[in-house]
Amino acid sequence: MRSSFRPLVSALILALAVSSCAQIPTATITPEALRTHVQYLASDQLEGRGTPSRGQDMATDYIAAQFRKAGLEPAGDDGYFQTANWQYAERKAGDVNLNITANGNTVSVPAGGATGNFLDAVALANTPAVFMSWKDALENSEAANGKVLVVPAAPVPGAARQLQEKLKSKPALVIMLDREKRHGAGTGGWLVNPEQAVVKGAPPVLVLHAPNPADILERGGATVNVQVAAASVRPVKLRNVIGVLRGSDPSLKNTYVLMTAHHDHVGIRDGEVYNGANDDASGVVSVIEAASQLASRKERPRRSIVFMTFFGEELGMLGSKYYARHPVFPLKDTVVNINLEQTGRTDDSEGKQENSIAMTGFDFSTLGGMLKKSADQTGVRLWKHASFSDAFFSRADNQSLADVGVPAHTLSVAYGFPDYHGKDDTWDKLDYENMARVTRMLAQGVFDVANDTASPAWTDAPKAANYAAKGRALKAAN
Ligand SMILES: [Zn+2]
Repeated sequence: MRSSFRPLVSALILALAVSSCAQIPTATITPEALRTHVQYLASDQLEGRGTPSRGQDMATDYIAAQFRKAGLEPAGDDGYFQTANWQYAERKAGDVNLNITANGNTVSVPAGGATGNFLDAVALANTPAVFMSWKDALENSEAANGKVLVVPAAPVPGAARQLQEKLKSKPALVIMLDREKRHGAGTGGWLVNPEQAVVKGAPPVLVLHAPNPADILERGGATVNVQVAAASVRPVKLRNVIGVLRGSDPSLKNTYVLMTAHHDHVGIRDGEVYNGANDDASGVVSVIEAASQLASRKERPRRSIVFMTFFGEELGMLGSKYYARHPVFPLKDTVVNINLEQTGRTDDSEGKQENSIAMTGFDFSTLGGMLKKSADQTGVRLWKHASFSDAFFSRADNQSLADVGVPAHTLSVAYGFPDYHGKDDTWDKLDYENMARVTRMLAQGVFDVANDTASPAWTDAPKAANYAAKGRALKAAN
């Protein structure tokens, strides 16, 4: 029995060996592996991965270790790290002293009630304050010359800088009211990007969070006493993590498919760790497992695949913008950016989302059509959300690449979910079975796109017109 059994066993082993060669995937993406990564990246130990923080450094160390384990080639200036040498500026709560006097009464703003992301010291005594709408402040603010210009909360992010750039008058100080603390409050410091010059000659902007003094300033007729100490500044290293899997085609390997996600989250607030498991540890972990799966295959796609995670998305897509200004691989040879956000949770506020993945800017490029094959193969529905597809295009890191002309989209399982930017976005709320299916689809999709001799292109959708023009300029600069 035994001897006659042997040839059969060898034949079986041979058959298995042959079939595992033909059947490309050698490593599989498992729910367990995804869970293990998310549990670490979203653990309290990583402190919510704020930019900058020790917890975020631990996260980037971990991601780099996973890229190394997968066998990706390091593509940063420091191994897998692309380093941005920025500064971190801080003031203690007591460094801002602001008193407001109206009708003979003086109100002191409590410590932490006013903050300002400027470096220099300010000292003003008994200076009249003038309240204006944003429209007046931008168009005719002459009445605020030499005084304190008070404006409501910024209508859009970046409005304060816009005001500094457009101001025709010379106020001594701008106070922006921000009762809802939308623009950061308390003792946290701020990042200084040495590439972004301060607006020459512009007045400093102090943001006032305390409601009562804000009411007094809004009523008008107040004078202001203010002493702000100079900020303390220290150097800080921010890191994108970048690894590459080289393509197989002699010429197409010098073109690149970018698969990305952001590794930062919002850090610690009022002593609570905001773990950011779905936003966006999930996307990072999908990138890690897709990288490891694709690197383990015998077959390489024609084009190279770059796997990258970004810092500072939550503070305004800082890491992806940094990459777009300092691309490691030429942008003109970068054929697409496939960015991942929120790949873990299925409990979408609009209803459960299983076996499906939504893409922003769905009609802006031909990428959707190119991902159809992997979607069909894996039974994952690739879909367009009627309103969010366009509306959320500019809300994630893909925007930074689109702005320089590279077709770029973000893919997500769920958009709104109950703990979005809350302290309870924790690892245990993710659906890892579903995440594994979706990540397999994404890995195969990235492979297919990288293996295609045709590259994704912007369409003639009106909302994509500016990006398409940038894309043409990028290619023309060749
Ligand atoms: Zn977020």
